[in-house]
Amino acid sequence: MDFTISDKMKTILEMVNEFVDRELIPLEPEFASLGFKEMLPLIREKQKKVKQMELWAPNFPKDCGGMGMSLVEHGLLSEALGRTPLGHYVFWCQAPDAGNVEILHLHGTEAQKEKYLKPLVAGDIRSCFSMTEVDMPGSNPVLLETTAVKDGDEYVINGHKWYTSSADGANFAIVMAVTNPEAPDYLQASMIIVPTDTPGFNLVRNIPVMGHAGDDYFSHAEILYQSCRVPQSNILGPEGHGFVIAQERLGPGRIHHCMRWLGICQRSFELMCRRANSRKITRDGKPLASRQIIQAWVSESAAEIQAARLMTLHAAWRIDNEGAKSARDEISMIKFVVANTMQRVVDRALQVHGGLGMTDDTILAFFFRHERAARIYDGADEVHKVSLARRILRNYL
Ligand SMILES: Cc1cc2nc3c(=O)[nH]c(=O)nc-3n(C[C@H](O)[C@H](O)[C@H](O)COP(=O)(O)OP(=O)(O)OC[C@H]3O[C@@H](n4cnc5c(N)ncnc54)[C@H](O)[C@@H]3O)c2cc1C
Repeated sequence: MDFTISDKMKTILEMVNEFVDRELIPLEPEFASLGFKEMLPLIREKQKKVKQMELWAPNFPKDCGGMGMSLVEHGLLSEALGRTPLGHYVFWCQAPDAGNVEILHLHGTEAQKEKYLKPLVAGDIRSCFSMTEVDMPGSNPVLLETTAVKDGDEYVINGHKWYTSSADGANFAIVMAVTNPEAPDYLQASMIIVPTDTPGFNLVRNIPVMGHAGDDYFSHAEILYQSCRVPQSNILGPEGHGFVIAQERLGPGRIHHCMRWLGICQRSFELMCRRANSRKITRDGKPLASRQIIQAWVSESAAEIQAARLMTLHAAWRIDNEGAKSARDEISMIKFVVANTMQRVVDRALQVHGGLGMTDDTILAFFFRHERAARIYDGADEVHKVSLARRILRNYL
């Protein structure tokens, strides 16, 4: 494999890292104390600068207004942006919009692209993805209770979802609902676009997660769909193909998550090293960094981050060159390896900061609260391990 990063990409990464350090990290204290909604005017100012730098929507296809970066390129960029919780949003490559753009780009009709994809890529509207249900196991997503039943030229949707991230303030949801109950498991559900102002789209609450309900983009909603009617033309792709489409978006989506998590690792690592060097723990001024146990954490974290980074870039390279199907094992591996690496690195960094680590005076407590979920969403650790092991063991029968 060639590990060379092109000159153009090097320049972009320098620009982005500098922008994150100068423009975004200083906003973090306000972000921790105010809600996200209150910060939106400021965020929009930063977004204008990103547009002027011509770095808007880096991973979105060129033909709909993005930069069209490859997965490896976007992976590298995503690591730089992930150093702050605001990075991806300000550069407009955040989940779940990134996944929804891919779906609309590949499967949307011309009318859907005009109405939803164009303004989404431009940053004029936001979206969410509504699959997980309160009463059904998300780990086996074919078990869905939400239905979309045809009535005239409409679908009538009924169901109880939760963890629809970023629904608060979103303009539309892509909803996974059963349209073909008689079909085999994987062909029962469809993805349907539901504007959030449709009667019957009832946002019950932003769920308190680790003590914080959040708001706007940084929130996870519980939603009741009650006789929610949308035109049948709002379906994405053929009826019953919801899981086929979902499967396509999972590969690239996991690279995006993993590289963002590597950014979190990198930032936590930087904070840990600075604190270890500056915190004096003896009368004669010896720093925490003089202790072997801290040194071990530094070395272990550096090695684990590098291993996770190389695995992720390799998976991205395979998807770019051979397609997501042939990178299935790599995608499963990075999902649990990087999520667990991040958890260990953030935990060590927080521990090195002692009481300070528990406060919102650094970003570590935010990372600790919010990123625990990485081991659960997009396939829990155990689900990935079980399915990877099954595929591996098959080779040894
Ligand atoms: C912060 C956050 C954001 C999310 N955002 C979204 C979103 O935007 N849209 C959306 O639709 N959903 C979203 N989700 C939901 C997420 O996809 C589900 O939580 C996930 O799929 C797990 O489903 P579940 O919560 O129903 O857990 P369950 O399916 O009940 O599983 C519980 C646990 O059981 C274990 N387990 C499950 N299956 C197996 C198995 N086969 N073998 C061994 N152990 C197993 C795992 O440890 C798992 O964590 C989000 C979740 C979180 C936490």
